Amino acid sequence: MIGRFAPSPTGVLHIGNLRTALLAWLFARSAGARFLMRMEDLDVGRVRPGLDVAQLEDLAAVGVDWDGPVEYQSARLSLYEAALDRLREERLLYECYCTRAEIHEAASAAHGPLPEGAYPGTCLRLSAAELAEKRASGRPPALRVRAGGASVAFVDRLLGPLSGVVDDFVVRRGDGAFAYNLAVVVDDAGQGVEEVVRGSDLADSTPRQLWLARALGLPEPSHAHVPLVLGPDGARLAKRHGAVTLDDV
Ligand code: GLU
Repeated sequence: MIGRFAPSPTGVLHIGNLRTALLAWLFARSAGARFLMRMEDLDVGRVRPGLDVAQLEDLAAVGVDWDGPVEYQSARLSLYEAALDRLREERLLYECYCTRAEIHEAASAAHGPLPEGAYPGTCLRLSAAELAEKRASGRPPALRVRAGGASVAFVDRLLGPLSGVVDDFVVRRGDGAFAYNLAVVVDDAGQGVEEVVRGSDLADSTPRQLWLARALGLPEPSHAHVPLVLGPDGARLAKRHGAVTLDDV
């Protein structure tokens, strides 16, 4: 078995992230599995130089170790491009020219099986003339998958049976960045990860990721979403509650 931890070097690791990392490490190591470390550094606007090293030091300080070199997503771009090519060949991609405000407006007006706030497929219904007009506008499109409201179920090791309706989520943003949901699926499969252990705030993304793994013909990992660390008021632990990073304690 292979497990992993995949932080984003966009901030100092929160105690909740460190606890998730420790649990992921424990699940893997107690099963005699390899444990991999992956830096999810695709969001160039939010990644801060040096934070990867600081995060790795904090992980080592709490006793987490990993096998092999740390993999950086920024060094794996050709794999994500190849996955997009595959989706394109399968006719599962389309261009989306919607602004944030347009998506918000369309999502609140939409009725049907999609979860609240989900993209209602506006750009999927553009006529050829409308599409040509959007293309001519010069605004670079995001790329979305054509998931068609598929419903995906899975059994989480900790949360039990879960399911979700998959909307036409973004796989490449308008600024050209590959989206988290694409990269995570390509990497977990490419690195042979068999169990994904992460915070329960990401459980809602799992139906999308399983749908994508199937669409790409990739193996599907199993999942364990661990509870978030909360403050005494029941809200997610934050600075206002006191110490939230190793440096704070
Ligand atoms: N990079 C994501 C984060 O730090 C976690 C991704 C995952 O574990 O699937 O929130």
